[in-house]
Amino acid sequence: MTPGPVLVLGGTGEARAVAADLVDAGIDVVSSLAGRVSRPRLPVGAVRVGGFGGVEGLRTWITDHRCPVVVDATHPFAQQISQNAARAAEQASVPVIAVRRPGWEPGPDDRWTMVDDIAAAADTIAARGGRVFLTTGRQDVGAFAGIESAWFLIRVVDPPTADLPPHHEILASRGPYDLDSERDLMRQNAIDVVVTKNSGGELTRAKLIAAAELGIDVVMVRRPAVPHVDLAVATACEVRPLLQDLLAGRRTDAR
Ligand code: NAP
Repeated sequence: MTPGPVLVLGGTGEARAVAADLVDAGIDVVSSLAGRVSRPRLPVGAVRVGGFGGVEGLRTWITDHRCPVVVDATHPFAQQISQNAARAAEQASVPVIAVRRPGWEPGPDDRWTMVDDIAAAADTIAARGGRVFLTTGRQDVGAFAGIESAWFLIRVVDPPTADLPPHHEILASRGPYDLDSERDLMRQNAIDVVVTKNSGGELTRAKLIAAAELGIDVVMVRRPAVPHVDLAVATACEVRPLLQDLLAGRRTDAR
C-alpha cells in the first residue's frame, strides 16, 4: 500500500522550515497547527488545524492517513502534544523525528533567575515588583493577574483572554525581533526585569542580549520535560536526510 503523508506537528519556525524542505524534495506532507492564534503563519503544503483528540485521536489520524513518520517540530513548552505524539506513534508503530531546539544558556553578563514554571515566575515578580517585560505568551498571562506590586508590558500575538494584572500595557506584535528594537523598547518603558520561557532559538533571543547590555534582570522559566524519542535532531535542516533514510528503509532502528 502506498504510504500517506508525513505529519509535521508545528506552530514553530522550525516546523515551517521542515515543511518547506520536504515539499521542495517532493515528499507528501501535512502540517498540523493547534489553532491557538487567529492568523497563523502558514507553512507551505497541506495544513490541518485543531487538536486530534488526545493520544487516541492522533493514533487514529496516523493510521487512517497511512502516515509513515511523524515529525514533532512543536515548541519546547508544548509538552502535551509532544507526549501525545510519542505515545500515539509508538502505538501506531511509526517512528518520530523530534526537532529539539537547544535551550538558551546564560553568559557572564546575564542576570538570570531560573524558575521551574510560570507560577514560580509570578511569585518571583510579586516579591520583587518593578517594571516587567512579560514575554511568556498569551496562555501564561493569567498567572500574573493578581500582582499589584509591578507594572507589566505584555507582549502577545493575539490579545489575552485571561484576567490581567491591574497595571499593564498590551503590546500586540509577532517576532522575530532585532536587538536595536528590543533595546529601544526596554529603555522607553524603563523595564527592569524580563520574564521569559527558555524557548531557545534565534528568533526571540535579542531581548536577552538587550537585557544583558542594559543590566536588566531576567526571570527564566526552565523547560518542561519532553519524552525521549530515538530520532532527535537540533535543527530543521537535519530532518529531511533522516526522513529520506527512513522512507527508503535504510534505517530500521527507530520503529
Ligand atoms: P500543548 O499544551 O502541548 O497541547 C495541548 C493540546 O493542543 C494537545 O493535546 C493537542 O490537542 C493540541 N495541539 C497542540 N499542538 C498541536 C498541533 N501542532 N497540532 C494539533 N493539535 C495540537 O500545546 P501548547 O503549548 O498549547 O501549544 C500549542 C501550539 O502552539 C503548538 O503547536 C506549539 O508548537 C505552538 N507554540 C507553543 C508555544 C508555547 O509556549 N507553548 C509557543 C509557540 C508556539 P489534542 O489532544 O486534542 O490533540
